[in-house]
Amino acid sequence: MDITIEQVDEGELKAKPDENKLGFGSIFSDHMFVMSYVDGHWQKPVIKKYQNFSLDPAAMVLHYGQAIFEGLKAYRGKDNQIYLFRPKDNLHRMNKSALRMCMPEINVDDVFEGLEELLRLEKEWVPSVSGATLYIRPTMVATEAGLGVRPANQYLFFIILSPVGAYYPEGFNPVTIYVTEKYVRAVPGGVGNAKTAGNYAASIMAAVEAQAQGYTQVLWLDAIERKYVEEVGTMNIFFVIGDEIITPPLSGSILPGLTRDSVLRLTRDWGLDVVERRISIDEIFNAAADGTLREVFGTGTAAVISPVGALSYQGNVCQVNSGKTGELAQRLFDELQEIQFGQRPDPYDWVVKL
Ligand SMILES: *Cc1c(COP(=O)(O)O)cnc(C)c1O
Repeated sequence: MDITIEQVDEGELKAKPDENKLGFGSIFSDHMFVMSYVDGHWQKPVIKKYQNFSLDPAAMVLHYGQAIFEGLKAYRGKDNQIYLFRPKDNLHRMNKSALRMCMPEINVDDVFEGLEELLRLEKEWVPSVSGATLYIRPTMVATEAGLGVRPANQYLFFIILSPVGAYYPEGFNPVTIYVTEKYVRAVPGGVGNAKTAGNYAASIMAAVEAQAQGYTQVLWLDAIERKYVEEVGTMNIFFVIGDEIITPPLSGSILPGLTRDSVLRLTRDWGLDVVERRISIDEIFNAAADGTLREVFGTGTAAVISPVGALSYQGNVCQVNSGKTGELAQRLFDELQEIQFGQRPDPYDWVVKL
């Protein structure tokens, strides 16, 4: 692909941050990839200095929310090579979000080439500290100026990069979850399966209320019966009851996570009994009561695997595995993390070396 590269002068490059104090998403690299869409076509992309955009106050994204994004990471292996995990799957998923939001699709191969080019320029930004990574945020927004409600005909697609710290700097730390009956995340026929900005805006209040009560995340139930589990915070969720591993099916109102998909693939290949089926919150509390609930964990790019130590629902709290990380969660975390960092053979062709 033909890309214009406007490199930042050596003297103007940012000082690299302390890799032991990265946090999440507050530091950005020197360059970004930008491509605009006008008159029915994506224009020639540019890799240029990370900088502010200039937007018309009537830009449609600011009013009606045509905004979609992705989240993936670049990992520095012990061999000092840089690896990506299923990157084209993220870009394909972005196209599904684009279709749902009446936004233009991107050319996955071209944009992937652009991402590789950007990463080659920003190699130094991929942290070396154990567990730290370079978070990659592809985003698309409607930029056409106008207050009429319809699909915009101008868009901006961009990729920014942010070095992020290890999710578990002191080892696994099971989280406590608040099951909300008051709020729902997505309804059948809505946009719950698209990675679109409005889903996150709509979820903030439930998260704030749960945090005020001492819980880390919210577990969402289905919008119709408020009975069946959907997902947790911004992660998909798995339960181990007896010997069965259960995750809710992709019903249209949950996000089809790539980590979820990878966990399904691994556990099936390990010969474990894994099913995608509806699971009610009552079934989970009953399993906790009769001692068969063995593990609960979330899956997502940021944490990889996030063990759940306790659930609160209707004033009742159930402990999961005495609040400790389960065996399966640990095994999945180790396996996935080692594949992502290029430390383990990857029979699935998930990993792409830069
Ligand atoms: C991104 C996201 C996930 C996890 O997807 P991954 O591809 O595994 O990172 C799950 N749920 C929601 C709501 C998300 O936005």
